[in-house]
Amino acid sequence: MTEYYYPNKQALNDAFDIFRYDMRRFIVRCLNRVEGKSAEEAIKEKLKGARSREFSNNLYRTGSVEESIDINYFPDLINEYWTDIFRQEFRGERKVKNTLRTIVDARNEAAHPPQKDLDREDVRSRVTDIANLLGRIKEPDSKQAVERIRDRLSSPRQDPPVSPAPSTSREGFHVYTDLPTGMSKIHKASCRYYKNRKPNPLPDNWWHGPYSSEAGARAASQNRGRVVFAGCCR
Ligand SMILES: [Zn+2]
Repeated sequence: MTEYYYPNKQALNDAFDIFRYDMRRFIVRCLNRVEGKSAEEAIKEKLKGARSREFSNNLYRTGSVEESIDINYFPDLINEYWTDIFRQEFRGERKVKNTLRTIVDARNEAAHPPQKDLDREDVRSRVTDIANLLGRIKEPDSKQAVERIRDRLSSPRQDPPVSPAPSTSREGFHVYTDLPTGMSKIHKASCRYYKNRKPNPLPDNWWHGPYSSEAGARAASQNRGRVVFAGCCR
């Protein structure tokens, strides 16, 4: 089956890649402040039923609390720990919770295989919501990256013609960032280097992703230095 390139859907997914990465870090950082519990325990306590089991399975597979948090957990976790933690982080603005639900609903819609591209104005609104939320959690570089994605949506003339996507893949893209050198290498999820990665990488180096496209992986990594596609995965 040929996969077609839908520019609005791609823009939304690129924004989600950045959003997912930063929100996971934000949530874990905040939940580490729950008294007497690790972030892992705090999450397990509040996720219900199938989600709780899914989280445990993710954790077993990835070895990382951050990587095990599905985007669908964000609203519940923020809501459950609103009074203890997040109300303070968001200065008591409850509408943040509604915005977060709207973003996650849009993500679930975009995850379905589309018969046509998403509506440009809907995508613009959601990408704007994502940029604003990234600003609220103090990720100005990521906010800017998402605003650039949004601004590319503004002009209809910039839409490429519908054609098979050169860089979209079902399997996802992972990035290995070497922090001392600031060099990031993009790998496909099937890459043996990714598969053999240590559950706890050295503190100076880390894997992040998966991103749904090479463009998303680049956008999420470019603030941290040079980004290249790994030779083993070309
Ligand atoms: Zn590779």
